[in-house]
Amino acid sequence: MTIENDFFADLHVHTNYSDGFFSPEIIVQKAIEIGLGAIAVTDHDGVEGIQSAVDAARDVPLEVIPGVEISAFDRDKEIHLLGYFVDYQDSSFTRILEKMRRNRVERMKKILGLLSFKGIKIEEHEMFGMGKDRAVGRLHLARVMARDKIVRNTKEAFDKYIGDKGSCYVRHKRLDYREAIAMIKSSGGVAVLAHPVVTDVDERIPEYVKNGLRGIEVYHSKQNTSDNQKYLKIADEYGLLITGGSDCHGNVYGKMLLGTAGVNKRSVDEIRESAKEGKNDQE
Ligand code: AMP
Ligand code: FE
Ligand code: FE
Ligand code: ZN
Repeated sequence: MTIENDFFADLHVHTNYSDGFFSPEIIVQKAIEIGLGAIAVTDHDGVEGIQSAVDAARDVPLEVIPGVEISAFDRDKEIHLLGYFVDYQDSSFTRILEKMRRNRVERMKKILGLLSFKGIKIEEHEMFGMGKDRAVGRLHLARVMARDKIVRNTKEAFDKYIGDKGSCYVRHKRLDYREAIAMIKSSGGVAVLAHPVVTDVDERIPEYVKNGLRGIEVYHSKQNTSDNQKYLKIADEYGLLITGGSDCHGNVYGKMLLGTAGVNKRSVDEIRESAKEGKNDQE
């Protein structure tokens, strides 16, 4: 087997700059240990973890691709858009992300308020990630609730309290998906629909394509081989780039997803090319 055939890229990884458990440095170390060729750091609503990952991978054969996962709305439905090869130093881009993280803090405060009505007291400072450069999320809260034995595990926290059918659910204040795609594009990135099976918006894909969507996450830890086939066909039909990644958030119930889903070198190169073409179009 050639080195090229061995190359595997996990293009969906969270760090502790959002709700991933591990720091960017540890993620890089683990990616090297399992022999990945590339990872994309795709934190929710932020790019602040990317530089540390890039620095940690400086002298090793691992490419760190700058990415982001933006939560947006398509009317009433929350969808996640991945952005690849975004310019993570572009201040007009990072300013919008910073505003999104501030909205996350406000939302988290509301959730904590609702929980406190139910007699569940969690202090704001317990919420790891309340800082300006990190995105706080419900998974942080679910971890604290599990740690404090308020729930048996993080899944129960979502099912009972903070999931969209939970009793303390608070909606995100979010961008319209068209604005999210546009901001990814104007920062030089390629916009990709994340985990289509989870989001369940297949019939909306043509509309997303019209609005600048360039790829679809065909491979994901929650998608099986028949899902993969289905999304490969959709990618082909609409001329979308094929992407894939594990959506690793650290050790979940003792399992580390890093490297369990992804794409080969050819797909990575196609995404890179598409980003370059997009940049050229703008010039
Ligand atoms: P947030 O971004 O604060 O709305 O939180 C959503 C994040 O929580 C997702 O991106 C997942 O990382 C995590 N999560 C884990 N389990 C669940 C679940 N059962 N339902 C929804 N989100 C979950
Ligand atoms: Fe997450
Ligand atoms: Fe997501
Ligand atoms: Zn994700």
